[in-house]
Amino acid sequence: MTKTIVTGGAGFIGSHLCEYLIGKGDKVVCIDSLITGRTTNLERIWQHKNFEFIEHNLSEPYYTGAKIDYIYHLASPASPKDYLEYPIPTLKVGAMGTYHMLGLAKHQGARILLASTSEVYGDPKINPQPEGYWGNVNPIGPRGVYDEAKRYAEAITMAYHRSHNVDTRIARIFNTFGPRMRLGDGRAVPNFIGQALRGDPITVYGDGTQTRSFCFVSDLVEAIYLLMMCDYDLPMNLGNPAELTILEFAKLINLLCDSDSEIVYEQLPQDDPMQRRPDISKAKAILGWEPKVGLEDGLKRTIAFFKDDLATKGF
Ligand code: UDP
Repeated sequence: MTKTIVTGGAGFIGSHLCEYLIGKGDKVVCIDSLITGRTTNLERIWQHKNFEFIEHNLSEPYYTGAKIDYIYHLASPASPKDYLEYPIPTLKVGAMGTYHMLGLAKHQGARILLASTSEVYGDPKINPQPEGYWGNVNPIGPRGVYDEAKRYAEAITMAYHRSHNVDTRIARIFNTFGPRMRLGDGRAVPNFIGQALRGDPITVYGDGTQTRSFCFVSDLVEAIYLLMMCDYDLPMNLGNPAELTILEFAKLINLLCDSDSEIVYEQLPQDDPMQRRPDISKAKAILGWEPKVGLEDGLKRTIAFFKDDLATKGF
């Protein structure tokens, strides 16, 4: 039986990945510090015989004698609000957490996939961003704690690959959305949907001309799995290239929530990227993958989730 570790498995993307792998028949060990992850995300598989949960912060070493085949290393705060609130844990898990997981992979002969990010491109000067672009990152700005942690994580992953022959994969994950995002995580998707459903003003930062490209979580999880299973060991962009401005996005969410919330403008956070769109030619050619779920379809499913979430927790 294939034995797989998912770090950050109680988070938004991690929990969907754990479910997907259980569905494929893997034995899945989820390791999560629960700083931003939630065990409720794992309700559907918690009792499954092939699922195990370990609460552990990977900034500290993690040892296991059990044979591991695959490690998906997703653990990290991932929303700007979260990593600004936890700057040092974010740097530590990106640096030491990745080091510890590479050590485990080396020891066990396991293949390891690093969840990297479009943030390695910073505020990109070219659009769309191909993997060959080195980025435009402010190392000492507030977002630097995440961007540089992930850039370091990529560097040490390639070093273990080259120096120790560890079998590595690097996914550069672009904006992803779907059920199980946290309402309070501060990102555009939960903020806008929560605001529209409550009838509160929708807070667009800056003038809303900055762009993003949003990928539905089921598409992303499939791509992560395909990348793990292929034999390509350089970084690969994973995301949906359908790009729109944040103002267009806010208006679309208002419409799909059947809401007439006013749009208000607030200050643009420092170093907020002005444009972002993945060049996914590598993923298309090597994985034979491209996103299937359209933005409106994905948003409808996400809005339904947040409606339930709000009904349970109260508006
Ligand atoms: N944003 C916004 N209003 C919000 C939250 C986010 O206008 O209430 C903007 C944010 O400034 C950024 C974009 O939406 O330009 C996407 O932000 P998010 O935090 O979702 O992800 P990022 O791509 O910045 O990591």
